[in-house]
Amino acid sequence: MDYRMESSENLRNKCAACFRQFNRIEHLVEHMRTSYHSVHEPLCGICNKHCRSFESLREHLIGPLPKQECKNIFNVRGCKFCLAILDGPNARRIHQERCQLSSTGLIGRFANLGFRDNLTMDGYTREPQVVALACKMVGGGSDGSLDLCGRVCIIDERENIIFHTYVKPQIPITNYRYETTGFRPEYLKDAMPLRQVQKKIQDFLCNGEPMWKIRPRSGRARILVGHGLDHDLDRLQVEYPAIMIRDTAKYPPLMKTSKLSNSLKYLTQAYLGYDIQTGIQDPYDDCVATMRLYNRMRSQAHRREDFPLASDPQNRNNFASRRQNELERMTPEEMLALSRSDYYCWCLD
Ligand SMILES: [Zn+2]
Ligand SMILES: [Zn+2]
Ligand SMILES: [Zn+2]
Ligand SMILES: [Zn+2]
Repeated sequence: MDYRMESSENLRNKCAACFRQFNRIEHLVEHMRTSYHSVHEPLCGICNKHCRSFESLREHLIGPLPKQECKNIFNVRGCKFCLAILDGPNARRIHQERCQLSSTGLIGRFANLGFRDNLTMDGYTREPQVVALACKMVGGGSDGSLDLCGRVCIIDERENIIFHTYVKPQIPITNYRYETTGFRPEYLKDAMPLRQVQKKIQDFLCNGEPMWKIRPRSGRARILVGHGLDHDLDRLQVEYPAIMIRDTAKYPPLMKTSKLSNSLKYLTQAYLGYDIQTGIQDPYDDCVATMRLYNRMRSQAHRREDFPLASDPQNRNNFASRRQNELERMTPEEMLALSRSDYYCWCLD
């Protein structure tokens, strides 16, 4: 086999999404059956490579082992926050100023002082459909290591505070964790009992919809944004269906290449360009950061498809039912066109 034939053979076995090369076509077919490449994956704006996460796209563009051609262009006109490629250095400068969302600063500090309770249902039957929630935990148990919700905040899409309060746990607080929570024993006097907080939040989220009836996009129940919400909801004793939850700790494009969660502090620094969780932490700042990350992910301009998910019944047979030799005759691009995402992309909201 001469060199030219070999390289064109390899090209035929190259994944059209992640560009991995396979020696044999059957290995590429196997790869396509299990990779769930889709239009919803983060894309390199230069070579169009699909990446599993923004972190792997960042590695592809910046390092430690970047693709050199892409790195060179990115250095001149790439946005270091959202990783988009702009027309030139000037366009990049203007874009980056808007893309870097500055810290809430003062507003956060005001929130720190106040107690706010606008969890009235009637004023909010239509809006807001999307809310963000965050808690700060104090310690319970004999060694103070048991997390108890000490503060909770809920904001709407425009970053307005809907609910913000200290919480009185059902068991004694043994460690106030003052350095991070700012919680002092005397605040317990005005804190809202957990049972009452739980009921208010539960009712507010469901918004009059019975839990068993909650469906995405059809009812009145709200989309809930947050970071590590399983833990927050567990500590609040609030139950909420997974289909309504948008968790920045569990959204594949925002996770590490190792498939572990990034911290909210890291995500805010890397994608929004400012610091949170320094010193005493206000759950309002966490709400704002998750809401901004959510909005950025939701506004991704991905191609619309009628059935975007691999789990949609219409896609069940894209790979499974096709005969191996039928797939082997397809081009890599044709196979990619059949492939669908294995996670729910927030651009679909
Ligand atoms: Zn691939
Ligand atoms: Zn998408
Ligand atoms: Zn690239
Ligand atoms: Zn940007």
